[in-house]
Amino acid sequence: MTIERLTPGSDLQAYPPAERWDDWPEYDVKQWPRRVEKRYLLVPTICFNCEAACGLLAYVDKETLRIRRFEGNPLHPGSRGRNCAKGHATINQINDPERILHPMRRAGRRGEEKWERVTWDEALDDIAARIRKAFVEGRQNEVMYHVGRPGHERYIERVLKGWGIDGHNSHTNVCSASARLGYQLWTGSDRPSPDHANARFILLLSSHLETGHYFNPHAQRIIEARMRGAKLAVMDPRLSNTASMSDYWMPTQPGSEAAVLLAMARVILSEGLHDREFVRRWLNWEEYLREEHPGSPATLDVFIERRLDLYAGFTPEFAEAESGVPAATIVEVARQIAAAGPAFAAHVWRGTASGNLGGWQVARALQLLSVLVGAVGTPGGTSPASWNKYAPKLFAEPPAQRFWNDLLFPREWPLAHYEMSFLLPHFLKEGRGRLEVYFTRVYNPVWTNPDGFTWMEALSDESKVGCHIALTPTWSETTIFADYVLPMGHAGERHDVQSQETHAGVWVSFRQPVLRAARERLTGEKTRYTHETNPGEVWEEDEFWIELSWRIDPDGSLGIRKWFESPYRSGEKVTVEEYYRWMFENSVPGLPEAAASAGMAPLEYMRRFGAFEIKKDTYALHETPLAPAQVQGAEVDAATGVIRKGGAAMGVMIDGVARQGFATLSRKLEFYSRTMKDWKWPELALPGYIHSHVHPEGIDPARGEFTLLPTFRLPTMIHTRSGNAKWLNEISHRNPVLIHTSDAARLGVATGDLVKVSTEIGYFVNRAYVTEGIRPSVVACSHHMGRWRLSERGGSRWAAALVTIDRREDGVWKMRHVEGVGPFKSDDPDSSRIWWREAGVHQNLTFPVHPDPVSGMHCWHQKVRVEKAGPDDRYGDVEVDTRRSMEVYRRWMAMARPGPGPGNLRRPLWLARPVRPAEEMFTAPACDTV
Ligand code: SF4
Repeated sequence: MTIERLTPGSDLQAYPPAERWDDWPEYDVKQWPRRVEKRYLLVPTICFNCEAACGLLAYVDKETLRIRRFEGNPLHPGSRGRNCAKGHATINQINDPERILHPMRRAGRRGEEKWERVTWDEALDDIAARIRKAFVEGRQNEVMYHVGRPGHERYIERVLKGWGIDGHNSHTNVCSASARLGYQLWTGSDRPSPDHANARFILLLSSHLETGHYFNPHAQRIIEARMRGAKLAVMDPRLSNTASMSDYWMPTQPGSEAAVLLAMARVILSEGLHDREFVRRWLNWEEYLREEHPGSPATLDVFIERRLDLYAGFTPEFAEAESGVPAATIVEVARQIAAAGPAFAAHVWRGTASGNLGGWQVARALQLLSVLVGAVGTPGGTSPASWNKYAPKLFAEPPAQRFWNDLLFPREWPLAHYEMSFLLPHFLKEGRGRLEVYFTRVYNPVWTNPDGFTWMEALSDESKVGCHIALTPTWSETTIFADYVLPMGHAGERHDVQSQETHAGVWVSFRQPVLRAARERLTGEKTRYTHETNPGEVWEEDEFWIELSWRIDPDGSLGIRKWFESPYRSGEKVTVEEYYRWMFENSVPGLPEAAASAGMAPLEYMRRFGAFEIKKDTYALHETPLAPAQVQGAEVDAATGVIRKGGAAMGVMIDGVARQGFATLSRKLEFYSRTMKDWKWPELALPGYIHSHVHPEGIDPARGEFTLLPTFRLPTMIHTRSGNAKWLNEISHRNPVLIHTSDAARLGVATGDLVKVSTEIGYFVNRAYVTEGIRPSVVACSHHMGRWRLSERGGSRWAAALVTIDRREDGVWKMRHVEGVGPFKSDDPDSSRIWWREAGVHQNLTFPVHPDPVSGMHCWHQKVRVEKAGPDDRYGDVEVDTRRSMEVYRRWMAMARPGPGPGNLRRPLWLARPVRPAEEMFTAPACDTV
């Protein structure tokens, strides 16, 4: 997408050139046909609406000092000037008449939605006093931070380490933990980084081109590859926009994807299409033979034979029977992948990995294809994400915390890839702990997570959660249960740095408060706090945490304050300016030099241009030879070739040369995972196929049973925050249940009819949408809709229905829509023009938790019964029994194989863990070992 604009006195421009960002003239469109010129200051920032961190340029009217709109930043190496609708809609979020402008404190019972305005000082002092008391009394594990949208690099990790606590919780186990574990086991890096632009064949297991992970940066590169002739294959039970643009759409039976991938691997191996040399050098096949077939000759041919034996059952015909994808298509795609060889790019992130029991094995099976055809670290292949992501050094690094919080990493899931976040209310209800101070940061677990009524039960109970602080730009279903609602900025209202693995290169980008930066550039006037230039008293977390930390430890006696002192002014409070100044001066390779050649300091350079490219073409890093100085004093393991220094693996001998390798224990790509064997899952030591909890063998179509896909995204929606973007709501405002024509005929259902969808713990009532774009026997409903509010003013009236919630005496919860969406009066005249009436249905409330016994990921897919709604059922009805949801929780937990593992460890030392505690904390306490 190219933005072309006629500017006064110039030719057509693709983008305003950077040298003119200080003074960019345009005609005011609202004055048309009069030609009235406006002058803008263009200030870069980065989008905060999804993870991709695309560049934005804010157009600041120099006369009014108001932001007029957001467009793309052409200097941003990831997004290259392009944005999706959500990036442009940032202006809606900023001008939203429904947004929170001031710090608010609860004035009634929790959940009653009575609020009073307080000052930032009052809020900070109260919260700091509670935290200080907990720390002084040794209750560090009662302070927890829970993030929805992160959008920063290491900032909060440093804060929590500065406080010395194990208190980081995230949303990752309802998002991507499953795929992450699969990739981590193979490469030691928990994300893939496909080089889509240079690929000849691309295989996507969810709708990345349209809506997925790194949506816009990936989409534009996939399109580039397609324009050069690359082929695209998509495995997705639903005909997504991405699938509709593919050469091969494989509408798999949900959960069968690993079977299809293993069948493809078998085709490649049995037809000798694999890259033998790559496999010989970089796969840990010798370790596999040594451990599992000690009597066999240690040759590659024996390994290939064993693998063919191992995967003998995965014939294309078997895969067809499991998945519904024709065997001929499976064979054809496998051959195409082999033909692309090193230029085969592949990706699974959410989709099947996040939907199914054992979804992490799908990522392993997919990576197996990349390894077999030698498409790892190559142009057009897929690299470990750590090669393409910048991680900043910070001006002072607090030591690792000496606590282990079992509410985050309990013993049942020693391999959980991220915190068991969605089970927090279940743990609290079981009495595993309590929280004195609980921060939710841009996070709406009541609406986003499964089993939202159980969240409500826990958050309403002050004996379980002492003080809940919602750091959020918007009212939400979760702020209802907060004690403080503290307004935080959107993109263009906050500082962060962000880097993402969008392609084979490394970049860093800078989010900044646009009006603060504009005022400083135009007037030279310095601002102490970002809330002085944002709307109302909207602040940013960076400054909030500095202020809070000083108030927790005002005299420095807790050892906390020192981490929040300036690197430039000894003993004084660090400013956000100094924090980023130090980072850009000391920790971004090449930036100081580039800034100097532009006649700027590094911070000024980033404020001006918003992004910096650190490296290009990051290919084949595993082949990097280790320099003699690096290996001096190192030891080489005679059996494995692993090079260790100070006990840590740093490389591997390959054909007599010391090379960097991968970040695994063997420094090779780990087809065979010793970790899985050592941690009680020997049968899953290799990539394999696990029957999903929604495998057809457990679903009876004659009883109206289906598999429900509740995970798919709408391209124009974020999560909670799209509720405050009027353009996005106008485009998308319903989430009907997609049902195949044949199934609809069987049930006697037409588009628009109400259907009742029953899960294990309750039901929801929604409209049907009859389509050929979904596999028969599967129904699908997007999770983006179904926003609700309990009071006339609470939440976003662009998106949320007014509902009542009742809890019957038997403990069953019932939600009913009272009023949908409609026009309302506000400062924005568009609010009186709302023409849509429905808000969608909140299906996630009816989902019990399904923690995968290995990865800990919530397995989103549901076995449901679908029927025509009855006379008493109304659109939006939801009913749930949370006692049943606790039973389902316990049933799934019983499948886990608890730690400790070898060496009495709570978790393998080598496995990544967010905000990693000190090593001794990995040892389980004595009571866990009996
Ligand atoms: S893909 Fe869209 S929402 Fe995501 S960062 Fe880019 S512009 Fe923003």
